[in-house]
Parts: sequence; structure tokens; C-alpha cells
Amino acid sequence: MALAITEACVNCWACVEVCPNAAIQAADPVFAIDRDRCTECLAEFAEPQCAAICPIECAIVDELGVPLNPLGSLSGIPPEKLQAFGLAARQGEPA
Ligand code: SF4
Ligand code: SF4
Repeated sequence: MALAITEACVNCWACVEVCPNAAIQAADPVFAIDRDRCTECLAEFAEPQCAAICPIECAIVDELGVPLNPLGSLSGIPPEKLQAFGLAARQGEPA
């Protein structure tokens, strides 16, 4: 049970500081979550802290690859608009 970071990550460091389990490390090309350390914050918080602070849609996904911050959730831009302009395909791919 762990979250993962995708290639949408912009390596902003925001999630590193808030993780209660020091599960996130800087890596190339994008930051990475240590599966052995990530608890999905279940014991510590009501929601995963990395996803709560992450400013990038689709940068953090669950074990099924489902984004915790899906397209449109932070920007308010309807996903169908992003898809219409070919922007949706840039996000959500696992790193
Ligand atoms: S879900 Fe919680 S424990 Fe897992 S990487 Fe994110 S902040 Fe760390
Ligand atoms: S907060 Fe999001 S964009 Fe920033 S380093 Fe973490 S996963 Fe990447």
C-alpha cells in the first residue's frame, strides 16, 4: 500500500517536507516515493499529505494509477477542455 509519483512531477520539493515517514526522495527525472515507507498517511492524517500539498494534477497516484489530484481538480479547468487541446496526454503517465 503506497502512493507513487508520475512524470508530471515538477520536482518542487513541497511534498518532501510534509511526509511524516520520510518516504519521498529527490530522484531523476522526478521525485520518488519509497513503497516500504509510505503508509498513505493512514495512521497519521485524514488524507495523504503529499497529495494535499502537491500543486500539480496527476503527479501522485494510488496503486491503481488513479491520480489523487485528477485533471481539473486544482486548476478548475474541465478535463474535456484539456483533452480537446491535447493537453491531458501530458499528465498521468507513471514515471
Ligand atoms: S502518502 Fe503520506 S506517507 Fe505516503 S509519501 Fe505521501 S505523505 Fe508520505
Ligand atoms: S509536491 Fe508534487 S510536483 Fe512537487 S515534488 Fe512532490 S510530487 Fe512533485
